[in-house]
Amino acid sequence: MGVWGTGNFSNDTAVDFFDSIASMDDLMRPIHSVTAEPLDSVDADLASEALAAADLLAGILGRPATDLPKEAQTLITKFDQPSIALLTQARDATVRVLESSELAQLWGEEDGPAWQDVIGDLLERLDPNTEYKSKDHAIPLEGGFVCSICETFIPDHELTNVEIDIANMPGITSGWYFHRSCIEDNFEPPHFNKHGAVEDPLKEQIEQFLHDKNNDSADP
Ligand SMILES: [Zn+2]
Repeated sequence: MGVWGTGNFSNDTAVDFFDSIASMDDLMRPIHSVTAEPLDSVDADLASEALAAADLLAGILGRPATDLPKEAQTLITKFDQPSIALLTQARDATVRVLESSELAQLWGEEDGPAWQDVIGDLLERLDPNTEYKSKDHAIPLEGGFVCSICETFIPDHELTNVEIDIANMPGITSGWYFHRSCIEDNFEPPHFNKHGAVEDPLKEQIEQFLHDKNNDSADP
């Protein structure tokens, strides 16, 4: 694999991959392959394709990488907005590549941190609930947070933000948003402590919910 930078499009595997995409199925194929593989066996080429696919998906969402190649800028305008389920799968594949792939090992100790920054940025851009500061040619996304339970927009007075740790990545969390009422209706109390913050038993329930939801949506 020829590599000329830490960016998700800075290797020939990624370039060959986005040249080959004609449909959303083509785009999602490496993402599905990564999430279907047992951990520790994602090879570098597949990992590179999955990262390029995930980054294209972020571009389709209106949050393109600053190093998105010209050819890919045209490509991303041809797709409909990705569903929450597809974005979740892309995030899941990205986390897998980050945590346990041959690619992560190849970046090694010297360039690893720079590469991890690129992946961290991608994870944020793939999360429609993370505030996005548009860069360069980015297309602004319509505002508003989407509830991870009912998948509708959340008015300010109902907005609850829960930070969930990404497994095995100390200090890296992903933000999830919910209607306060959806949390109360779907999870066992205690929900909030006296400061209004989320209690650990609730976090565990939410982690389980997100895990189950992700597995459901990955089924054909
Ligand atoms: Zn809701």
